Formats: sequence, C-alpha cells, structure tokens
Amino acid sequence: MGTNMLLPTVFCILLGSIAAIPQEDFRSNLEWSDYSTNLDEPAYRLRDVVYPTDVNLDLDVYLNHLNFSGLVQIDVQVRENNLRQIVLHQKVVSITGVNVVGPNGPVPLQFPRPYTTDDYYEILLINLDQPINIGNYSIAIRYNGQINANPLDRGFYRGYYYLNNELRVYATTQFQPYHARKAFPCFDEPQFKSRYTISITRDTSLSPSYSNMAIRSAQDVSTSRIRENFYTTPIISAYLVAFHVSDFVSTEYTSTDAKPFSIISRQGATNQHQYAAEIGLKITNELDDYFGIQYHEMGQGALMKNDHIALPDFPSGAMENWGMVNYREAYLLYDENNTNLNNKIFIATIMAHELGHKWFGNLVTCFWWSNLWLNESFASFFEYFGAHWADPALELDDQFVVDYVHSALNSDASQFATPMNHTDVVDNDSITSHFSVTSYAKGASVLKMMEHFVGWRTFRNALRYYLRNNEYDIGFPVDMYTAFKQAVAEDFTFQRDFPNVDVGAVFDSWVQNPGSPVINVARNNNTGVITVNQQRYVLSGAVAPTTWHIPLTWTQHGSLNFNSTRPSTVLSDEIGTINAASGDHFVIFNIAQSGLYRVNYDTNNWQLLASYLKSNNRQNIHKLNRAQIVNDILYFVRSNSINRTLAFDVLDFLRDETDYYVWNGALTQIDWILRRLEHLPTAHAAFSEYILELMNTVINHLGYNEHSTDSTSTILNRMQIMNYACNLGHSGCISDSLDKWRQHRANVSNLVPVNLRRYVYCVGLREGNETDYNYLYSVYNSSENTADMVVILRALACTKHQPSLEHYLQQSMYNDKVRIHDRTNAFSFALQGNPENLPIVLNFLYNNFAAIRETYGGVARLNICLNAIAAFLTDYQTITQFQTWVYSNQLELVGSVGVGNNVVAAALNNLTWGNGAAVEIVNFLNSRSGSTTILASSILILAAMLLQMFR
Ligand SMILES: [Zn+2]
Repeated sequence: MGTNMLLPTVFCILLGSIAAIPQEDFRSNLEWSDYSTNLDEPAYRLRDVVYPTDVNLDLDVYLNHLNFSGLVQIDVQVRENNLRQIVLHQKVVSITGVNVVGPNGPVPLQFPRPYTTDDYYEILLINLDQPINIGNYSIAIRYNGQINANPLDRGFYRGYYYLNNELRVYATTQFQPYHARKAFPCFDEPQFKSRYTISITRDTSLSPSYSNMAIRSAQDVSTSRIRENFYTTPIISAYLVAFHVSDFVSTEYTSTDAKPFSIISRQGATNQHQYAAEIGLKITNELDDYFGIQYHEMGQGALMKNDHIALPDFPSGAMENWGMVNYREAYLLYDENNTNLNNKIFIATIMAHELGHKWFGNLVTCFWWSNLWLNESFASFFEYFGAHWADPALELDDQFVVDYVHSALNSDASQFATPMNHTDVVDNDSITSHFSVTSYAKGASVLKMMEHFVGWRTFRNALRYYLRNNEYDIGFPVDMYTAFKQAVAEDFTFQRDFPNVDVGAVFDSWVQNPGSPVINVARNNNTGVITVNQQRYVLSGAVAPTTWHIPLTWTQHGSLNFNSTRPSTVLSDEIGTINAASGDHFVIFNIAQSGLYRVNYDTNNWQLLASYLKSNNRQNIHKLNRAQIVNDILYFVRSNSINRTLAFDVLDFLRDETDYYVWNGALTQIDWILRRLEHLPTAHAAFSEYILELMNTVINHLGYNEHSTDSTSTILNRMQIMNYACNLGHSGCISDSLDKWRQHRANVSNLVPVNLRRYVYCVGLREGNETDYNYLYSVYNSSENTADMVVILRALACTKHQPSLEHYLQQSMYNDKVRIHDRTNAFSFALQGNPENLPIVLNFLYNNFAAIRETYGGVARLNICLNAIAAFLTDYQTITQFQTWVYSNQLELVGSVGVGNNVVAAALNNLTWGNGAAVEIVNFLNSRSGSTTILASSILILAAMLLQMFR
C-alpha cells in the first residue's frame, strides 16, 4: 500500500533521532532464513492443507444503517487425508450458518457445535463430524457484518463528505494486511490466492457500486434496491479484494476502448480529476512496455479496468486493490490554483507506486508478510522511476536518492533496525510494524543498487523472468535470486566483469542483514593503495559484526568521472584494497550515491575534499555526491565518528551552495543539531546565526518570487529554504512573506502563489493577530482541495495568539473537516508552529489525553502524539514535568506509559548529546570569527548539574 501507513512505525523506531521536520514532509515518508511458510505462531497462521480456489461473495449493503449481510461460498482443495476441522479467518459480527459439500454430497458437521469462532486469533473453526479426505469441497457461510464507523478500523468502513453543506456518506474497503476477514470469512493470508465473483446489493438512490472488476449485469431486487454482479477477478489474495458503495461520480479517460481509465471522487470535485488521469495513463503505458505484460490483459478472461478513487477518509496513503485503487483525496485530486508542486509530485509518485503493485504484489505476491519487500520495495522503486519515465521534468530519478536512499540510511542507523527478511513477523502487531522504511525505501534503494550493478537491461530482464515464472502465484526471495541469475547468465558484459560473483548472494546479503554499512576509506599517498573496511553503521549502541557484498564505485581527483555508476569491484570481506594513482589526490566513493552505504574517509582525504568543495570547482563533484557528503558527515557528527571541527570545515562549502539536493541532504540534520543546543542559549544563538549565514547565498540565488522558467528542483528548493529561513528568523524572508500575506488580506483575489503558501501563511499568522487566524480558519472550512487544507492546517498552528492556538487544538478533536487521519498531524503542527507553543500543547495534552485518544482514533494515535513530543522537550524542567505527568497518570495512560517513558529517555539522551557537542561547535564558530575560545564550564555547568538530578 502507499507510504503513509509508515508513520507510526517510523516514529517508534527512530525515537532517539526524531527530527523536527515531520516524516510526512518527505515522499519517503510519507518484510527466512529458510523461506518456508513454516508456522512460527501455529495458532495464528493457517495451515495450507485447505486451499481456496474460487470465492463467490454476495453482499446486501445498508449504508445508512452501517451494516450488511453476506453469503460467501468458497471452493477449496483439501490436500490432506483425515482432516477433522477446516480453519479460516473471520472477524465479522455473527455467523448464522455454515454448510460444507464434498465430492459425495453434504458433509455432516458436529452437533451441537457445527462451528466455533475464536475472536483472539480471528478464526472460524468448522467442526467436521467425520474426518474428510483429499478432494474438492465447497464451504458456504451466512453471516452479518458491520460497516465500521471509524476509518482507522479498516475492513469495510464508512466515510463522509459535504455537498452544499449536506452530509453524504459512503463506504469503502481497506483490507491489507489482515482486514478482509472483517468483511467476509476468508483465508486471509497473502499465500492463499483465489478468483472472486462478487455481487453487491445497494439502494437505487446511490451510484453504481465499484469493485475490482467492471459490472457484468444488474437486476432490480425491489423498487428501492438493485443488485450488481461483477466480472470474476483474476487469481488474487484476499487483501486485494475491494468494493465501494456511494453516490460518487466518475470521469472516464481512455486512450482506446481496450484500455479504460477512470478517476472517481465525491461530487463537487470532478474538476480536479484531469492531472491524475493524464499522468496515470502515461505511467500505465510506461510500465506495460517495461514489463512486457499488459495491465489490461491481466484479468484472466475479463478486461482489467483501471479505476482510481479519491476518498475524503482513508487510513493509508493509497491501496493497490487490483482494478480499484483507493487514495486519500490529497494524493489524487489536483487543482492548479491550490495544489502545490510537492503535492502534485505526490500524485504522480503514489499513482506510480500503486500501478507498480499490479505486477509486484498483485500478479506475483509475497508468500508472507515477513517478506513484504517482494511487494513494497518494487512498488517504491517504480513509484519514482515509473513516474520519472512519464514526466522526466519532475526530476524523480535524482529525488529518489535524497528521498529514499537517505531515509533508508537514516532508518538503518538505529541499532534496532530490522532486516528486509524479518522472521519475527508472526502476528498482527508485527505485521503492521513491518510496513516500514525497511520494506519500502530501503528495499527500493537495494533494488536501485542492483540495477546499477547488473545494468539497466539485465535488471529489467530479471524482473520479467520473476514475473513470468511466478505469475498468478506467490514469490519467495529465492525466486527473485533465480531470476537475477537467469538474466546475468545471458549478459556477456556481466560475465566478463564479474565471472566469480554470485548475484543471488550479493542480493541476499542486503535482504538478510539488518542495517546498512559504512565503508571507512584510508588512502596511502605514496603507494596509491586504498584500504576499505566495512562495518554496520549505527548512531549509538553495540551491534553484531556484519558484512555485506558491497558493489563499489569510486573516482579520484585528477580524473574525476561521475558518469559511470557501474561498480568496478565487490567488497565481500570486512577489509579490501584497491590500487589507485599515488599522490595527493582525494577519492570519492559511491558515485551519485548509487549504493546503499555511507562513506567515511581518513583526515587527509576529508581535508582535500573540504578545500576542493570551497573552490570554484565545487560543481565538478556530482550534486548527489555533494548531497551524500553533507548527509554522511552530519550523521558522523551525531555518532561521534568524526572530529567535529573537521566536519564543520567540510560543511562550510554550503555558504556557496545553491543546489536543492545538497541542501535537502543537509537541512534535517542541521536542524537536529540546532535543537540539541536549545537548552544552551549561547550555543544555540551562535549556531542559528551560523546557519543563516550559510543560507545567505542560496536565499539570494533563489529570490522570493517564482519564475516561469524555474525547474522542479528550483521550486522545491525555494519551498524548503524559505520555509526554514523564515522559521529561523531571516528578516528578508519574513518581510517578503508578510508583504504577500498583507496583499492577500487586503484583497483575497491576490492569491498567494501556491508553492509559497506554507511559509507565507505561517509568517502571516505568526506576525498577525486573532483576525488573521479567524480568516485562515474560515478558508480551511470552505476549501474544496484537500492538499491545500493540509497546508492551511499546518499554517494555522503558527499563530502566537494563545486563545487561537487553544481553539486550534480543540478543533483538532471536534471539527469534522479535520479528517481523522489528519488529527495527529494537527497535533504535530501545533508543536512545530512556534517554540512558545510547547507549554500550550502540553497543557492541552495533560488536560485532554483521554479525549485525544478517543477523538484521534485510539491508543496508537495518542502514542504518535507522545512520540512527536520527544524532539521538543529540550529543557530539564519541561522533561521533569512531562515525566511527572506520565507517572501520576499510569492507570489512565494504559497502553501509553512505555511510550511516555521512552520519550523521557530520548529527550534526556538528546540533552546529553547537546552537552557533549556544544563546546566544540561554539569553539569552531568562534575560531572562524576570531573570538576567543570559551570554557566548557561557562556553557555546561548548570546543564551538567541538572542532568545529575535525573540519574
Ligand atoms: Zn505499496
């Protein structure tokens, strides 16, 4: 599914390293040792002795009553003799009848308990009176189900919208990974794939229903009820089944009749369909060509339609149901006056992600969620490259590196990082957690590295072999390695360059190992010999020694060449050597960051790089390598793996740097360091001033106004730079934003340019008064564009008027225009708006946590809010107060106490880090300005004393 499901997990894993910029700012942010289907948790997993082949599902849906009744008939193959019980999943309201028919007619069930249900494991056990033997059987189950009122409960759920102030309701499904059982009893694991024939009966006042396939026939059941029968699906897993009952409307777009394509939404938003249709059609065509398997022909007898539905309420970002993809509105509906470039790119990439799943996930499905990467890493790969082929001007090939490779390395820097093959995935909680950066961004980064390694054509051929060899079936990692071996065997160049390399073993080392490596490079000037040593990179903590097969690319000053990303060698041992030219020439490893690893150099090499980066030749080093250098070095600063004075000397080239990618690699980490100094005012002031000084050139280079000739990265750069500069208090940024805000307030037809809105609105509210807040709040409530509403929701939290902020926090619970999936975001936005917001947000939390838990959607949602606080607890007094609140509410905070304690621990770690780094940082800054070196005690003595009190 789409990337937004990642957020809770990301926050849990990265507790110690939460940055101030929330994950949803990034597109990135936004699963054997023996590869068997063995049952780690026997009571949880189904045994594969009963296998479903065909499912008939007949639903009678009463939207206004939030319920439905159903009849499901499942044809199964029994693959074992002497079977006494048939076990499948269910989490419906009630089962009212069960029948089993075998080769010899009806199969008697036990009396008086023909079936039992187990609500803990969410299963239905059909108790056979006599054991049955191998053969074909048919199970029929009558049941009652509910349409969940809370979208976060998933399954078949209800949402709402307003049409001319009139409330309208709809119902749709979200089944991945284990929610199909809430809509019908089924074999709810990815390995069980069947063909589904679905019928839905609804009120005639609604629009025709949607499901995976087109409607084959319809019949009136009564004057007010109509039954629609859909074509039979191809062979799919239960989590890919979907249906939708509403009064929504569709816009048909198609290149030919054989390739239908539709965008569907609530009424009142059809004027926002066009962009998604254009880009979605192009992406489908590109992927058709790439895989050599046509999307529309995958229906196994029926035409595969290509519907994309925008939903006001959706718990994930998007979901790849075959033939009927669901999206949050903000990720599908486009309006040029109200959708900024970042959100426009989201539409292209998320559509590409979901379309990529049609081949990876739908046609070939991971055998179990432990290896979710077999679905998600490919979808995440085509998310960028499928969209890139459809519109190269979006620069998604380069953005992949700073979005996905950087976020994979960030996530892997935790000592708790889990591997792509995660054998601990055994129940609902562990399944949910594995929908993570590891399965998405890291998997995609490994794939990109493999593509650089074997070459574009051979990589594509390997994917085609995997799809062809396993279509309409499940896939295992070993099937992927087999396909890669098959493809490289036919590649003369690869055989010549890497005659003894086992491509499967290379791939597998990245799938099996947790974390990612750093390579430490030491160069001997006299001999030219470079020694490279690999180890797992972690920010802190001890981890077991690990080695990867690392395809290495490198270049050397004197013959710099960033054109070839084809590795020259594979580092398979802990240490290796490479012969280069002797002399005082720096080297750069990991060209264009084509590999998933960090690089640390010896001091001399860093010094040579520092002086070259400060020269006019800086741009001879590839922008993605400049981005890599700043990102790596800031992590080394955090993990104490580099002398800080040396690190800041390298980073000093940023004062001349104007490139989007380089600044993108730097900003989040610079901000992380800045926050760690918040409790040390001298250091904090000096470091903020230094950052603003570094940003001067790029601010002047970009200017405050957009130009029609701006490239994608120029526009994105202005968005990220001005947003940060305004927050840091840059006077030019603030005064220009205030001008734009006042012009808009003077005359609302002076729209603030859409890409500048986030920081212009924020400055307007921050420098404005209650009237400004009330104005923007009314714009929020009347907007028809969800992406713009999220921008406004964020800006509203920039108010410095306390009653307005309190109003905002109340609205986050009770305004139904704030969708349930946006409520935790509203809470984070309130933390980010101004430093002064913190006590108000904390008071809101302390006084309302039970209501927050209720209205935001449950314990997991409250925990997201608690985790978000960690980065903002930057002084001892506030940490003590927070800790006291957790202690004194332990009973009421059931399910959140552990999270609260972790937040305290993370905040204290952050303080400790800041104490350790502050003196060096301030001394570096003073040495540049000629000031005298300061004593550690003047900054730290108070801090150190207070820290003692916590131990
Ligand atoms: Zn996905």
